[in-house]
Amino acid sequence: MSLGRTAPRLDLLRLPGLGRFARWRYARLTLQLPLLALALLAVFDGLIGRQVAPQNLATVSVWLHYRGLLVLALLVLGNLFCAACPLMLTRGPSRLLGRFLPRLSWPRALRNKFLVLGLTVAFLFAYELFDLWASPWLTAWLIVGYFGAALAVDSLFPAGTFCKYVCPLGNFNFALSHVSPAQITARDPDVCRSCAGQYCVNGRVEGAGGRGTLGGPSAPLLQLEPLPGAQTFPGCETTLFVPQMRSNQDCTLCLNCVRACPHDNVALAVRAPTRSWARWRPRADLALLGTVLLLGGVANAWAMVPGFRRAAQAVAALVHTRSEALVLLILLGGLLLGGTALTLAVFRLSSRLAGHPEGTRRAARRWGVVVFPLAFAIWAGHTSFHFLTGWASIVPVTQQALGRLGLFAGSPDWTLAALVPENLLFPLQVALLYAGYGASSYLAVRVARDGGAWWAAGPLLAWLTVLAVLTVLILGQPMELRGTLLDGGR
Ligand code: SF4
Ligand code: SF4
Repeated sequence: MSLGRTAPRLDLLRLPGLGRFARWRYARLTLQLPLLALALLAVFDGLIGRQVAPQNLATVSVWLHYRGLLVLALLVLGNLFCAACPLMLTRGPSRLLGRFLPRLSWPRALRNKFLVLGLTVAFLFAYELFDLWASPWLTAWLIVGYFGAALAVDSLFPAGTFCKYVCPLGNFNFALSHVSPAQITARDPDVCRSCAGQYCVNGRVEGAGGRGTLGGPSAPLLQLEPLPGAQTFPGCETTLFVPQMRSNQDCTLCLNCVRACPHDNVALAVRAPTRSWARWRPRADLALLGTVLLLGGVANAWAMVPGFRRAAQAVAALVHTRSEALVLLILLGGLLLGGTALTLAVFRLSSRLAGHPEGTRRAARRWGVVVFPLAFAIWAGHTSFHFLTGWASIVPVTQQALGRLGLFAGSPDWTLAALVPENLLFPLQVALLYAGYGASSYLAVRVARDGGAWWAAGPLLAWLTVLAVLTVLILGQPMELRGTLLDGGR
């Protein structure tokens, strides 16, 4: 068993108040309840309220605030939105339901990111086809569907299955949390070496007959019902073993490990992301997911600008169709499939130049880390644009939704919706993009240099430059108010 060698220099859980809060049994619940209330209100407003996207809590909270704040949180600390995810409150009902259903184990063939990858592509396609950002009603049903899926999966399979193998949003967070400056790690690896119970992953039962574990990684990890006379501390819901963690991959920041470790040996360490990246070699499925997120980010931004409509109309004329679904399939499918194939070919070419004539899987492992910073930057640039153009509008739309419930008596303050820092938007997007491009380029050179051939980074640097320039050109264009893809727009 290989364990980490160095203790963290700065541990956020040592800060006054924070460590105590993290160890508090109800810490996560305290974060989840406000988001649950917001989700319920958004569903109510999405289904019952006015179907005008900028004036409805469902669309404003999901497509402006949730996405924008999520990337901001990843950048300044970590995966806070998984930590506060209200979907996890379905664990109580799913445990109840589980009593009447067979308990299954997640198929071995799906213990990777390929299902998530397929769901992510399906989401990107549906987002464009059904104009999800413009429909409060569909957005409300998306939220309901998400809760239903979490409930169904976690009722049939061990807790944590949904987060690790199914949830596209959680896996988006996992993949992009490699940019985050904090990571769970062991304070003292020597303590872990002599720790018999490995409680951080297995969970712990304390009291009534001494100390024991809640079960191995294949057993239900979240013991929600306290055993009589004992205190229970669930282990890691995504089966991470703290002393072996080398990245934020699959960490929901639930802090179960902090509470389960009886030796107070878990840290939330501040780290330099670039140093961690340089050591991280993602599995091939993760590298592929990172690549699809990178290209999906470009596609999602491209779909906002007039060039996308012109391309769609050209494709429609070429294949003689009026079917938007077909045109989107060709455009998005072409970009994602073609771009992924090209990226993998570039990985192989770089490997060959480095003197490693290896297959696609091994090349993806070697170079895959390179795509993550640029993927983050493209999504951050895009979602921060939407967030900043409507950051204060959350106030009037919430007032309006509460008013419908009789919980707010005044008139919504729509003047707040006009507070847009327009001059800042494009420079901020470009700054984020250059930072991501710089970090990805650094990693390409670093991986190549570690292999003894810095010039092997050449093809990757060229490909990253093409993607970064394309994205700047896209972000620099005015955003369209879109009608249907194949008509003249609005
Ligand atoms: S329970 Fe604590 S001491 Fe034991 S392996 Fe996990 S982090 Fe280390
Ligand atoms: S228990 Fe697992 S998922 Fe939760 S914070 Fe610890 S390592 Fe991350």
